[in-house]
Amino acid sequence: MSLQWSRGGDLLRLQTLGWFPLLVTVGPVGRTSRAHRDAIARLVAAARAKGGKTLSDSQLVGYLPQAELRWQRALSERVRLSRAEQILEARRCPRCRAWVENSATHCAGCRHRFTPAEDEDRDQLTGQARATITSAERVLSELARGVLLNGLAPPDQDQLSVQREEATSVVMRRG
Ligand SMILES: [Zn+2]
Repeated sequence: MSLQWSRGGDLLRLQTLGWFPLLVTVGPVGRTSRAHRDAIARLVAAARAKGGKTLSDSQLVGYLPQAELRWQRALSERVRLSRAEQILEARRCPRCRAWVENSATHCAGCRHRFTPAEDEDRDQLTGQARATITSAERVLSELARGVLLNGLAPPDQDQLSVQREEATSVVMRRG
């Protein structure tokens, strides 16, 4: 993303270099004027007031190659988060595959009554979902704070996924 401001004959350009955290560079187009310097100073002050930081050239060199990977990591953490939130709310009926609210004793679709073993499985999955939410939220917050990728927990530490849940349901059906 790129933005430009003009005032009189002076032009200032802001260019996005990355997300998580939002990384921008700002500078004059053409020769630097007093208006450019004032505008940049106001922009930097506004960013700092909101918790922003200015980076040196050498710090920037650490972030730039990560911009794409940081974006992908944030997306995958958001997917983990939303799957885990769904598992916290509902489980699959082993008979008709409908999503059923976790607290329900029967499936609203086919009236299947959940067995104690299925309840145990639900409890195990919701426990994993809570752990996933904690870890995904931590990674997202660290990405936003600018922790470098090698300082983050490795991706997909847990095995919580829709696939796993499907596999569990198939096993339960045989039993
Ligand atoms: Zn059902």
